[in-house]
Amino acid sequence: MLYLVGTPIGNMGDFSPRAVEVLSSADIIACEDTRRTGILLKEFDIEGKLFSYHEHNKASKGPVLVSRMKEGLTVCLVSDAGMPSISDPGEDLVKLCIEEGIDVSVVPGPVAAISALVLSGLDTRYYHFEGFLPSESKPRRERIEVLKGIRETIIIYEAPHRLKKLVKELCDAGFGDRKAAFCRELTKRYEQVVRMTISEAADYYEENEPKGEFVICLEPMADKSEVFDTDQLISRFLDEGLSTKDTAARVAEITGGNKKNIYDQIIKSRK
Ligand code: SAM
Repeated sequence: MLYLVGTPIGNMGDFSPRAVEVLSSADIIACEDTRRTGILLKEFDIEGKLFSYHEHNKASKGPVLVSRMKEGLTVCLVSDAGMPSISDPGEDLVKLCIEEGIDVSVVPGPVAAISALVLSGLDTRYYHFEGFLPSESKPRRERIEVLKGIRETIIIYEAPHRLKKLVKELCDAGFGDRKAAFCRELTKRYEQVVRMTISEAADYYEENEPKGEFVICLEPMADKSEVFDTDQLISRFLDEGLSTKDTAARVAEITGGNKKNIYDQIIKSRK
């Protein structure tokens, strides 16, 4: 059996009694950083057998954990902070367990994204979780292009040293007049939420160097009532030189449409 166990995103008071109970009875506690999780366990008097499971070893260690669970052991997965599988390793292990018929359960805990969303003052009914944008420039530009078409509140994770760059990129993409909430160090001593437009943020962060952990909630650029003009998007991407296949993929990503149907539509329009 696998338990996904949420841990605090800063404030130890947010660690749930059930999390303590489940971790205390686990045979194996898989974690990203054994030192960091060791500190948490010590704080709550939990004795546990730690097993390193992170982004760079998950392909080889996932099957090892699965074989232990098949032997009947209980594995708990925790990440450095918040919920495993949310911009953290976990997703692959969950998929593996499901494939292998192993039960998966959850002990929910804080998530930085949702904590920021509820503080943002922006629409919470519909939202898009982006997490970290890619760090390489081309895929990053492409994701920002996708964000332009999103019609729900957008939630982005960003490292402090890249925050100013992100704000500039969002300005350049046309988000300048959009409202945003910059949620920093949530649940910690220096928790701060700054609500302003993206253009104002460009000035603000020139004056105030970003420090700590950030979640950015962003008002969408696309109008909610806007219906995507698929034909227009297809023409735009084809004019930009994208192949038929890539155009169909991009348009499907933006509109939420079916890639194959869009592909067929492009082919048909040429006949
Ligand atoms: N699994 C975590 C969750 O459930 O939210 C997220 C882990 S992700 C690797 C780390 C990122 O989450 C940080 O770079 C930051 O963007 C965001 N984050 C985590 N803790 C935060 C906090 N206390 N305040 C603001 N953002 C936080």
